[in-house]
Amino acid sequence: MTAARPHRWAWAEIDVGAIAHNVDVLRHTVAPASVWAVVKANGYGHGAVRAGRAALDAGADGLCVALVDEGVALRTAGIDAPILVLSEQPIDQLGDLLAYRLTPTAYTERYTRALADAALARDLVDVDVHLKVDTGMQRVGVTPDGVATLVAALDGLAPTLRLGAVFTHLAVADEPDHPATPEQLAVFDRVLDEMVALGAEPPLVHAANSAAALAFPAARRSFVRAGIAVYGISPGHGVDELAAELHPAMSLRARVALVKPVAAGSHVSYGWRHRFEHDTTVATVPIGYADGVPRRLGTLPDRPGADVLIHGRRCPIVGVVTMDQFVVDVGQLDGAPVEVGDEVVLIGSQDGEQILATEWADRLGTIGYEIVCGISERVERVVVGVGAGDAAR
Ligand SMILES: *Cc1c(COP(=O)(O)O)cnc(C)c1O
Repeated sequence: MTAARPHRWAWAEIDVGAIAHNVDVLRHTVAPASVWAVVKANGYGHGAVRAGRAALDAGADGLCVALVDEGVALRTAGIDAPILVLSEQPIDQLGDLLAYRLTPTAYTERYTRALADAALARDLVDVDVHLKVDTGMQRVGVTPDGVATLVAALDGLAPTLRLGAVFTHLAVADEPDHPATPEQLAVFDRVLDEMVALGAEPPLVHAANSAAALAFPAARRSFVRAGIAVYGISPGHGVDELAAELHPAMSLRARVALVKPVAAGSHVSYGWRHRFEHDTTVATVPIGYADGVPRRLGTLPDRPGADVLIHGRRCPIVGVVTMDQFVVDVGQLDGAPVEVGDEVVLIGSQDGEQILATEWADRLGTIGYEIVCGISERVERVVVGVGAGDAAR
C-alpha cells in the first residue's frame, strides 16, 4: 500500500482475497452447478476488471454485465471468459456486442432478428443466445406463453444464431419462506418441459441470484449468477445466516482532518440540525455525499447519527453529511485523544470492531447493494489482500 497511497484522506480498500474467498465458498455451496460472477455497475463499486479477474482466478466460469460497454471494458482488459449481457440492449450496440464476443440475452422477436442481422453482417455463425423467460419478476423476459413463438423464430435464424441457454430471474429469493420462489421455479420448469417437447432443449439453464444460490438448491441449475455474495455482502436479512461465511470485500476509510473542542449549546453543520448538550471534542472527516456517504446518515429522525470507528471505538456522526466532509463527536475518546491523520473507518473493521454496509442500509431503509454501488468514482480504490499485486495490474 505504500506504493499506491491515495491522493486524499479518504479511500476504499478492495480486498481481492475476500472476493476469491467468497467465490470459493459459493462454488462449494452450489456444486455441481458453477458460478458466474456478476460485475455490472463497476463490480458493484469494487472495480469490474479486478473483481472479474479475482472471481475467474478463484474458479468462476463466466461473468455477467448489464451493459455492452461494461462487457467491452472487460474484454479490453484482456478477460477472455464468457461474458453475458443480462438484458436486451439498444440495437446500435449490437455491433460492439458481437465484435467483443459478448453473449446476448434476448426475449423479443424484434431484438432476436436484429441480432441475427448484425451477426450475418459480420459473417458470424452459431452465436449463442441466452433466452430470458419472465416467470414473475415482471421486469424483462418473454412471458411463458410467448416462449414457443420465440424459440421457433430463433430456430429460423440458424445457423447464425443458436439457443445457448434459457434463464429466469427470481424476485423474492432473499425471503426463503416466501411462496414466490417455488412458484417462479414451477413456472420455469413448465417452460423447460415445453421446450424439450418442442425439441429445443437448452444446453444451459440458469435461475439463481446470490440469495437463491444460498437458499434454494433447486434454483442452482447449470450455474448461478452471483453478484452481491461475491462482494461478501448478505443479499438480505432472510439469508444472513447462509451468508455468514462470506467476507466483505470493500471497506471505506478516511483520516481525521481537524480536531477541535466545541462548547455545550453550540450546533454543527448545515441547518444546525444537531445541538451539543455537553462540552465535547469533534473531528472533521474529509468525505461526503459526493463520495457516496448519504447526507442523512448523520441526521435520521429520532436517533443518533450513524457511527464511524476511530481507535476501534464507535463515534457518532453529528449533523448532516456535507458534500465533501462530515463531523464526528469523539468526546468519548478523550482518554486517548484523537489526532489529525488518525484512521476513520466508515465501513469495515478496526481493532475488532466492525461496521457493515448493511448497517448503513438498515438505517437508510435500503439494501447493501445500493451502499457499495453508490461509492462514487471520486473515492480512490486501493487494492489489498492476497493476489492484490495481480489485481492491481
Ligand atoms: C444483478 C443481477 C444478478 C445478481 O444479483 P445478486 O443479488 O447481486 O446476486 C443476477 N441476475 C440478474 C438478471 C441480475 O440483473
